[in-house]
Amino acid sequence: MVSVGDVVPTRMEKIKRTNWAANIMYDGAFHEMTAIEEIPALVQSLEKVTAVGTGHTFNHIADSPCNQISLRLLHEVSTFDEVSRTVTVQAGITYDQLCPYLEDRGFAVHNLASLIQLSVVGACSTATHGSGDKNGNLATSVSSLEMVTADGELVKLSRHNDVDFSAVLVGLGAFGVITQLTLDIQPAFNVEQYVYERLPFDQLRDHFDAIMASAYSVSVFTDWQDQQNNEIWVKSRVGDGEKFEATQKFFGATLATQKLHPVRNLPAETCTEQMGIPGPSFERLPHFRMGCTPSVGEELQSEYFMPRHYAAGAILALQGLSDEITPNVFVSEIRTVAADEFWMSTCYHRASVAIGFTWKPDWPAIKSLLPKIESVLAPFDPRPHWGKLFHFSPAELHSKYEKMDDFVQLASKYDPKGKFRNEFLSSYIFTPCS
Ligand SMILES: Cc1cc2nc3c(=O)[nH]c(=O)nc-3n(C[C@H](O)[C@H](O)[C@H](O)COP(=O)(O)OP(=O)(O)OC[C@H]3O[C@@H](n4cnc5c(N)ncnc54)[C@H](O)[C@@H]3O)c2cc1C
Repeated sequence: MVSVGDVVPTRMEKIKRTNWAANIMYDGAFHEMTAIEEIPALVQSLEKVTAVGTGHTFNHIADSPCNQISLRLLHEVSTFDEVSRTVTVQAGITYDQLCPYLEDRGFAVHNLASLIQLSVVGACSTATHGSGDKNGNLATSVSSLEMVTADGELVKLSRHNDVDFSAVLVGLGAFGVITQLTLDIQPAFNVEQYVYERLPFDQLRDHFDAIMASAYSVSVFTDWQDQQNNEIWVKSRVGDGEKFEATQKFFGATLATQKLHPVRNLPAETCTEQMGIPGPSFERLPHFRMGCTPSVGEELQSEYFMPRHYAAGAILALQGLSDEITPNVFVSEIRTVAADEFWMSTCYHRASVAIGFTWKPDWPAIKSLLPKIESVLAPFDPRPHWGKLFHFSPAELHSKYEKMDDFVQLASKYDPKGKFRNEFLSSYIFTPCS
C-alpha cells in the first residue's frame, strides 16, 4: 500500500448535470480529477463520495447528493505491452478512446457493449456486456486494478493473486475509486456484420442454441409483435475458422438488402456497418457508431439475465405480455453471455441469456410494467442489470446472489464508515434483509 499526499485543489462544477438518459439529476458537487495523485487526498477529505464514469446508467447507482468524483480527464494509456498482450489504462478512459489506440498497434479487446462511448471502469463496475456464447462480460478482460480506498490508501489487486479481486472489480462503486486497470488484449481482428429480418418466434424457440452459436456475437431484436422477431444481427470474426456463411435465408429469416436500425423505421446512419462489409472489431461489435447518438437517444432501459437453458421459456413468458410491452418498448434485445467469477456479476457462475428492453421514456408506464415482467420471469431466476431500471426489492436481490453477504462484509472491511455508500447501495446492498 502507498500512502496519501496533501489535499490538492480540484475542479468542481456547479452546473446542472444528469445521467446520459437525463432521467436522473446529479445534484452533488462534481470533483473532476486532473491527476491520479489528487485522488487520495480528496477522497480522504470527503465524508461521502461516489465515483461516476460516463453516466450511462439509468438508475441512481452512480449518483450522490454529496460528492461525485470523475476521472474523465484521466484517460491516458499508462503501459502498452504487446509481448504480454496487456494494456494498462487510467480509469477514466472510454472504449472509444482505447479501441482506436489498440487498433493502430494491431490489438483489440475481446468484446464491446452496444455502444462504445462508455468508460471502461464504469462498464466493468456493473458487469456490462456484449453478446456471444463464448464472450464473458467486459470485466472478464481485466487482470488487475488499482484503487484508492476510503482512508486514501492505494490498493493494487490482481486476478492471479488476490481473492478480493473477484468482488472489487464488479464492485458497483462500493469499494473505492478505481484509478487504473490492466486489460488483456488480443491481436486485432475484423468482423463482418449481417442483418436478417423477420425471424419467426417458433424458430427462435426451437433453435435458440444454434442461432446464438452461429457466430462470434449474435443479437436478436424484437418489439414482441406479430409472432416474429424484427431482426437478427450476426457478427462474425473474419479469418478465424468460424466464419459465418451468409445465405439468403437463416432459420426462416431473410437477409436484409439494406442497412437497418434495431428500432423499426429509425434511420440506420448511426449504426455500425452491415451487409457483410468487413471492418475492425470496434467498428462492428457495438451496434452504434462512434461519434453518433447510440440507440434512440430519449429512452429508458431494463435488462434481465437468466440461465441460458431458460431462454425459450423466458421468451415465451414475455410474449404472453406482448400486449403491454409492445406499446411501451422501442425494441428488446436478446443476447447470450458466458459465465464468469465476479461475485456481483449478473452472469456469476451461469452462462446467461440477457433480455433487454429499450423503453419509451414514460417512467410511470414502465414502473407499473416492471413488476409484471419480473413476475412472469420469476420461474427463470432473473437477475437485473445493475445499471438499468428494475423493481425487485432488496430482499429479492439478495436472494439472487449467493456471494452477497460476503460482498457486504468485504466492502465493509474496505470502507468501514460507508464513505462510498450512496442511496442505491445503502438500499439494495447494505440494507439487512430478513
Ligand atoms: C444507450 C445505452 C446502451 C447501453 N448498452 C449496454 C449494453 O450493450 N450492455 C450493457 O451491459 N449495458 C449497456 N448499457 C448500460 C451501461 O453501459 C452500463 O450500465 C455502464 O455501467 C455504464 O458505464 P458508465 O461509465 O457510464 O458508468 P456510470 O454510470 O458512470 O457508473 C456505473 C458504476 O460504475 C461506478 N464507477 C464509475 N467510475 C468508477 C471508478 N473510477 N471507481 C469505482 N467505481 C466507479 C459507479 O460508481 C457506478 O456504480 C447501455 C447504456 C446506454 C445509455
